[in-house]
Amino acid sequence: MHIGYQGIENSYSHQVCSKFLDMKKLGDDKVKGFKSFEIVFSCLLFGLIDFAILPIENSIGGCIFLNYDLFYKHNIKIHCEFHHNIEHSLYSTNPDFLGIEKIISHPQALQQCKDNLKKNNFEIEEYWDTTASMERLLELKDDNYGCLAPPGLSEKYGLYELKKCFNDQENNITRFYLISLKDKKFDFGNILRKQYNGLNLVSIKNKFSGYVVIKDKIGSLQMYLNKFNEKNINLTKIESRPYLGSDRNKMNTAFSYIFYIEGEYNFRDNKIEKSDDDSYQFNYFGEFSIFDFIDDNRMLENSNINKLNDQNSKDESNENIIFNGKLNIGVVGFGRFGQFISEKMVKYGFNVYATSRSDYTSEANKMNVTFSEFDTFLENHFEILDIIIFATSINSFEKVINHFIESSKDKFKNKIIVDVLSVKEYPNEIFRKSGIDNNNLVLLTHPMFGPDSAKNSWVGKKFVYWYYYKDYSRFDKTVQEKTDHFIKFWENQGCEIICLDSINHDFLSANSQFLSHFIGRMLELFNCEETIIDTDLYSNLLKVKNYACNDSWDLFDGLYNYNNQSKETIRKLKFSLFNLIENLETKKMKESSTGKVFSLIKELKSEGQKLLNLAIGEPKWYPNMDSDFLHQLKKDEISEYSTSKGESKLIDKLIDTYKEKSLIAEINSENVMITSGAKFGLYLILKLLTKPGSKWIIPKPYWVSYPDIIESLEGESIFVDTEVSNNWEPNIDEIWKLNKSDYNYNNIKGIILCNPNNPTGISYSDKFINYLINLVIKKKIYLIVDEVYLMVDGKIKSLYSKINENNDLSKYLVIVSSFSKYYAIPGWRVGYVFTNKDMIKDLCKIQSTISGCCSKASQELAYNLLERNLNPDLSFLGKSKLKIENILEKKGWKFGKSFSSGNQMYIFPYHEDENTVSELEENLLSNNVFFMNGKSFGVENCLRILLPFDEKELKSLSKYL
Ligand code: NAP
Repeated sequence: MHIGYQGIENSYSHQVCSKFLDMKKLGDDKVKGFKSFEIVFSCLLFGLIDFAILPIENSIGGCIFLNYDLFYKHNIKIHCEFHHNIEHSLYSTNPDFLGIEKIISHPQALQQCKDNLKKNNFEIEEYWDTTASMERLLELKDDNYGCLAPPGLSEKYGLYELKKCFNDQENNITRFYLISLKDKKFDFGNILRKQYNGLNLVSIKNKFSGYVVIKDKIGSLQMYLNKFNEKNINLTKIESRPYLGSDRNKMNTAFSYIFYIEGEYNFRDNKIEKSDDDSYQFNYFGEFSIFDFIDDNRMLENSNINKLNDQNSKDESNENIIFNGKLNIGVVGFGRFGQFISEKMVKYGFNVYATSRSDYTSEANKMNVTFSEFDTFLENHFEILDIIIFATSINSFEKVINHFIESSKDKFKNKIIVDVLSVKEYPNEIFRKSGIDNNNLVLLTHPMFGPDSAKNSWVGKKFVYWYYYKDYSRFDKTVQEKTDHFIKFWENQGCEIICLDSINHDFLSANSQFLSHFIGRMLELFNCEETIIDTDLYSNLLKVKNYACNDSWDLFDGLYNYNNQSKETIRKLKFSLFNLIENLETKKMKESSTGKVFSLIKELKSEGQKLLNLAIGEPKWYPNMDSDFLHQLKKDEISEYSTSKGESKLIDKLIDTYKEKSLIAEINSENVMITSGAKFGLYLILKLLTKPGSKWIIPKPYWVSYPDIIESLEGESIFVDTEVSNNWEPNIDEIWKLNKSDYNYNNIKGIILCNPNNPTGISYSDKFINYLINLVIKKKIYLIVDEVYLMVDGKIKSLYSKINENNDLSKYLVIVSSFSKYYAIPGWRVGYVFTNKDMIKDLCKIQSTISGCCSKASQELAYNLLERNLNPDLSFLGKSKLKIENILEKKGWKFGKSFSSGNQMYIFPYHEDENTVSELEENLLSNNVFFMNGKSFGVENCLRILLPFDEKELKSLSKYL
């Protein structure tokens, strides 16, 4: 795109180009100066330039008629007007002002300084451009010469700037027009700059310009001008020029004229209509806005003036006239956006009548909108409305439209129905379904901006519209005109008008508007805040967040649920996010540390090595499975699938067993499911509750698999330190602190506790457990309790029993356990989960998707073990514990004390001296005694040792301690 002006670089016209044009988008080389106005016009005609910026009038020197005549001759279009303050400086090669005799400059500049020139007895010489006159001085090299040119150029030209503000009057302003040939579309967004020195570009007045050829008859001019008066138009200019049309000779006088007329519209739609008499035709150069960069205070002043004018005019207007060029607009839904557009429409001169679910009378009064509740709106105003704009939330749109049609069936005729929803296929469908489109013209629109993004100006903002009629001409002519007027309103605000069908709109907006709203909402969840070192890029991100979150949730929800393309946008976004992360991280699947040691032990055993395995938590009290027992299993159809919830007879038996052992007072089968081992149960729970980035609090020391599972689900673990001196029990205040809505921790899903604990073997105190329950209920976070060692301990109750005391806990508590330890069948993989029934349903769905079910044979086996009431004698564990603790305590090792006096499978000695720890480790390993290092459980200087289950094992371990 090329833009021309008359003059050279730094001339006034060039200054206007630099100030108002978006040079970054256009490129400096696209804006070119030409020697004369005629050349600029020739360039327009030959397509060498697309637009031109030309001065038309100076507040002191008056009109530049030549340009008016060229406008008329070439049938141009005016797109907008700019005002520029003109100051002339006097330059010379001579530093002595008194030595100057002759001044050269453009005739307009000379005219504007004529009194000062006269006072100083200067002779004058006209030149083609002000700034070019400086170059002329340099060519002349005559100290008797001076020139008038824009200020601040002395250094650039090497001339003395002898006088500043040499113009006769201070208020010296020139009006410039941005013009093109008639059919050229003006793209405000790409041509005009939106900000200048921190000020915003706004449309400050609406104008028109054109000409009329008046018949040479008594009173004809007066009669014609009366039309403007009748239409309440403020005429700002009338100039007569000789009529130079091709039929000039047919006129029977040498003095026939055309009249250039300009004016301001209070009511833009009051335009002078086409005349039946061709000779009185008003020919528009354009209806356009004056744009300027102004600050907030001036904007306020400006809006007050507008309001005053509008009010005066409104009082005089007759509301019963249906169409006199002034549209009556109904706005249904007077929320954030409804108010935003209504205010502008009132200022523009439309009569606006609004209704809404809530009462907005006082807001409406402030902006001269007539607000009424729905029934009054229908009864008193509906009849006179030309256009009804639906500006309700997307999700209430269908309901509102249907309610409207039902209540005003007969009145809905020849209206223009407009929606402004941010999705377009959906209202399109609703309009079709409602049949409203049969008798009314439906216009689908989406102003692609709102109260934040277009707070100061609508210039360059995009306005999308689409009528879905192939045959638009079937509508009444007035309806068509009103629709054109309505679209013109947006155009006159400086909007870029885009005609786009609803399918393409939704596709594009899902990938632009919805994407930005989604990212904005995400940034809010992220807790993105201003910092003292914000970069521009980051400040823009904050803007995205603020703009998106200032809009209602309904709007966001509507963008997602009523645009089919939005789901695809999220899918693409997820894919891109994980792809990007993958490119940054080389991710390796982790093998659990117990798994690694287990593989090593198996390998050594298969090589025939003798070793003592005190590393892996495999019970040594495996049940005796004689052939009778196994035969019994076969009888039931153990090779079939089970349900994902598990065999109901096993669930019932399990509940009975828990009750018999007094581990739980009350639990229903709907609160239980069977899983393929406790680890898988835990995975299912975490899979259900963990979203990428979710955080889980895990007290140390912890079972090795918790963080690994969480990481595999893109979640994050937050560890809480504990000390042996406090029996490895976390300080509850630490956990409370983590749950403050500190931005690092605002995504906490819950806490995972292993009770009795693996690796320490000890159970947490009742006091701690009660604090924890209090916390999860208050903070509404989950508490997952791994009770795999509960029956081994044999003395503490399941935490599930607390639900009987506190029903709120049922929402948050999940218990996971298994048959692996007490019933000693780890390889059969049977676990179970206790939680509320809704969560059980969801967990069943996930288990059914991932693995189907827990093996029926395993469940059958577990059932039989319960049926036989297997009750292993674990008393040897106590003996082992005493002995080993005794030996190690003498060497300075420390142990936490368990809240319960029950059995433990492990001991977890701690020594503050790491050398002592290493020595013991080396000693044990060199004697083929395997154990786990405390680091695997998140704690240094500790060992986890499986307690020996017979004398022989106990003896050999004691030997190496
Ligand atoms: P919104 O939350 O989408 O809509 C609020 C409007 O909907 C209010 O007038 C509200 O009435 C009405 N409403 C909500 N639920 C209703 C229900 N159940 N029954 C009747 N009316 C109900 O917020 P908005 O920003 O004002 O947007 C309005 C429309 O303009 C939306 O369709 C939106 O897509 C579109 N739009 C918005 C923007 C923007 O930047 N905000 C830009 C372009 C287009 P009350 O207030 O009386 O309760």
